[in-house]
Amino acid sequence: MSHQMHKACDFVLFGAKGDLAMRKLFPALYQLDAAHLLNPDSKVIGVARADWSQEEFVAQVEATLNRFLKEGEFDAEVWNRFSARLDYVKVDMTAPDDFKKLGQAIDQSQRVMVNYLATPPSVFGDICKNLSYAELINDETRIVLEKPIGHDLESSKVINDTVAAYFNENRIYRIDHYLGKDTVQNLLALRFANNLFNSQWNNHAIDHVQITVAETVGLEGRYSYYDKVGQMRDMVQNHLLQLLCMVAMNPPSKLDADSVRDEKVRVLKALHPIDSTNVHKRAVRGQYAAGSIDGKAVVGYSEEDGGGQSQSNTETFVSLRVNVDNWRWAGVPFYLRTGKRMPEKTTEIVVVYKNNPHYIFDKKQQDMVSNRLVIRLQPDEGIRLHVVMKQLGMTEGLNLQNRALNLDFTSDDPNHRTPDAYERLLLESMVGDQSLFVRRDEIEASWTWCDQLIDAWDETGDEVKHYNAGTWGPIGSIALIERDGRSWHEE
Ligand code: NDP
Repeated sequence: MSHQMHKACDFVLFGAKGDLAMRKLFPALYQLDAAHLLNPDSKVIGVARADWSQEEFVAQVEATLNRFLKEGEFDAEVWNRFSARLDYVKVDMTAPDDFKKLGQAIDQSQRVMVNYLATPPSVFGDICKNLSYAELINDETRIVLEKPIGHDLESSKVINDTVAAYFNENRIYRIDHYLGKDTVQNLLALRFANNLFNSQWNNHAIDHVQITVAETVGLEGRYSYYDKVGQMRDMVQNHLLQLLCMVAMNPPSKLDADSVRDEKVRVLKALHPIDSTNVHKRAVRGQYAAGSIDGKAVVGYSEEDGGGQSQSNTETFVSLRVNVDNWRWAGVPFYLRTGKRMPEKTTEIVVVYKNNPHYIFDKKQQDMVSNRLVIRLQPDEGIRLHVVMKQLGMTEGLNLQNRALNLDFTSDDPNHRTPDAYERLLLESMVGDQSLFVRRDEIEASWTWCDQLIDAWDETGDEVKHYNAGTWGPIGSIALIERDGRSWHEE
């Protein structure tokens, strides 16, 4: 994670007309320019099949910025600078000669070529092959891959092998956009720059950890894609396991990309298997039925557009009790939960500390919540430490209360703007730092563990349990944690 100005690059955006490019990537590139983080000589080259002229392309980007930047963020001076970097080349990814045309817009003697593939993985192979055909790959050329990298271990290997035929691992940047969030990086600082936390980050002090990634949205018209995938592959395999790794990993000896990623792989390999022998106790899968979100009625999964009232067994909710089999975490469960159509959109990690071994206060107060560290990734990023204090003032006896030490990242500076995760990741791909990208062995270790769990659901004929939209999942999810004498964190 470097802050030096990167070498000038040709940032080539494949899939420039797509939703991801328009909604997230162009706004992120613009914000980097606004913050003077782009090398003055860097270019942004949009690549798509659309029959756009250069002017039409620039007008499309301007329109998308006006739509997706927040009010007041579009600035004429920044736009002049940014629009001068833009170039467009019409390319069909399957047409080799189109890549020769692309080559004319690239200058590898002056700039590093960074290829961002915001396309379906089915065209990754064609893009790599044709970049090679047009002699656009040299030792410095990088490739950035969007998820999903496969739908299981085998298919992920096929994608990785295809790309590896043209690019060395140290030129491949696999995106998990959760790793670009400020608070996730702050977790590294919190853990490894503060002995207060570092010395208490183990099974002596910590009782359990909860990780929740909840969305209020349903399928947003993506039924045909989602029904083949489900929440386990779409969210757990990547985002939740990445967050778990950031919490559970041992301190790396250095902060370079491979030292960090070596530690994450160790965690993934230490995950206790969930298979047909324990899946009923360790995993709950659900599917939303009709209900209401923010007072508005919403349909159930099978009534979504494209669902056709089907009897799909695809899960839209998963909760898991995961153990990490090593000395640091022996006996400390990690409860993971993620779902669609939840009551609120939230992503948070809650580290729950053990109670003191002997209680000396009034027993009536013994149920008071133990110390908790709440690391919130969205909606408002921040870290809160819950502590038990004496109630202020004169009372009879020593009455306790829960208070929170609040590190709200927005309160220090009223002009603070939390950068979108993609801003950080795009910048790092230009700088050439892979710390926040996922290495091949991480993907494979995570699929190995997830495949076993998904197979166990198939083998045992596990049926999804329905939950009403606007609730925290099926009742079994509450039972999963309450069986252990614990409960999901609520504020
Ligand atoms: P879209 O379908 O909106 O865009 C995909 C782009 O790829 C389109 O511009 C399409 O071109 C282009 N494309 C596909 N096949 C070809 C081809 N043979 N030749 C040239 N262009 C081609 O998808 P998204 O933008 O939503 O997603 C892109 C990738 O990113 C997907 O793999 C998705 O899973 C992933 N992703 C998306 C997220 C999002 O928020 N949208 C979030 C995380 C990951 P054309 O317009 O000409 O059809």
